[in-house]
Amino acid sequence: MPRPQLRRIATVSVHTSPLEQPGTGDAGGLNVYVVEVAKRLADRGVEVDIFTRAVSRDQPQVAELAPGVLVRHLAAGPFEDLDKSDLPGQLCQFTFELLRTEAAHAPGRYDLVHGHYWLSGQVGAVAKERWGVPLVQSMHTLGRVKNAALAVGDSVEPDVRLRGEAEVVASADRLVANTDDEARQLIGYYAAEPSRVAVINPGVDLSVFRPGSQAAARRQLGLPQDGVVIVFAGRVQPLKAPDVVLHAAARLIADFPGLTKQLTIAFVGGPSGTGRNDPDGLLQLAGRLGLASQVRLEPPCPQPELADWYRAATVVMVPSYSESFGLVAMEAQACGTPVVAAAVGGLRTAVRHGYSGILVESRDPGHYARAVRELIEAPAKLARLANGAREHASRFGWSATVDSLLQLYTAVTAEAAAAVEA
Ligand code: UDP
Repeated sequence: MPRPQLRRIATVSVHTSPLEQPGTGDAGGLNVYVVEVAKRLADRGVEVDIFTRAVSRDQPQVAELAPGVLVRHLAAGPFEDLDKSDLPGQLCQFTFELLRTEAAHAPGRYDLVHGHYWLSGQVGAVAKERWGVPLVQSMHTLGRVKNAALAVGDSVEPDVRLRGEAEVVASADRLVANTDDEARQLIGYYAAEPSRVAVINPGVDLSVFRPGSQAAARRQLGLPQDGVVIVFAGRVQPLKAPDVVLHAAARLIADFPGLTKQLTIAFVGGPSGTGRNDPDGLLQLAGRLGLASQVRLEPPCPQPELADWYRAATVVMVPSYSESFGLVAMEAQACGTPVVAAAVGGLRTAVRHGYSGILVESRDPGHYARAVRELIEAPAKLARLANGAREHASRFGWSATVDSLLQLYTAVTAEAAAAVEA
């Protein structure tokens, strides 16, 4: 049957709920992506049902996230957080519950399924066959990419993931890559068919992340007005290299002892991944480096508050080992704060070197320290990059992301309908 118009899609996010606070545990950019896209799709008349695993008995089976967007909590495995490595064993049950939910409605409830992360892609691949609809897949991160640049202290991504990812790549009708770099990785590491890979940049909520008074933000957050403030935001785990931020700060102070009393290093977020095995590691490292009184560890906070941290910052640092995009970098720039980031993966798109921030082609903290120092010493350059940051980020609103996704959804559903007719 031809499906002339998209009415409703099934979005699958097995391992993390869009209702979670991002910036800790398994909740991060993927959650933000799913929420921002779903709300905007619904605004344009496409309803979204988001399927995620229930982690507590108290969660309602169905919750309305926004008009036209439902979150469906499926019982699959124990009602508690599970490590990602335990989730493959729950996929069968999750898939069964997903199909059961759909079967309670008239046939044809969903026009398309969009999976987020490989675990959801595995579920989506079954739903696609059962419902006769296309599967669009966003990987968000890739095991082979992580393994190729494994962070010190991180564990190797297991074979079950690498094999599972390859299966998802083979069965998806379209793969959404965040950047050209991710498209190359999908093709190079996973033999994705190039014609099935679409590059669609994620976005930033420009109404939340907007420039504002640094002085007011610092007052609000209890930060000194005149100091240098370095902010790291997001999940604290080896992959994001928060230790590089501390080592770079120690280097800065060693070069400029005068900075000792002027420097604040703020980490906004909570432990995640293998970082959960060592939740006090950052504080201990700060102590060893003599930075205990300069460091502020802040719990993850809602985005309007996070925007204040970005505005308060002199620079935001994103020294990750790999990053499929790096929403934090984009959000900071939207607030008018230059970013010092690793020249890896999506950060090469999210940050324009020399225009909106500095990309560092090295993992050496000394190079990060030098990049920050060059900005502190040259207020005119810092101001120029702040302007560039705002301008660069202004090109990345979520509505452009959703425009492109809608085009992709429409094209792939039309192809599927044509294939059935042929
Ligand atoms: N975030 C948040 N509150 C915090 C820290 C982070 O809401 O206290 C959000 C942040 O706004 C961003 C996301 O978490 O949208 C992190 O996304 P990113 O792409 O930087 O990293 P990921 O978590 O996907 O690895």
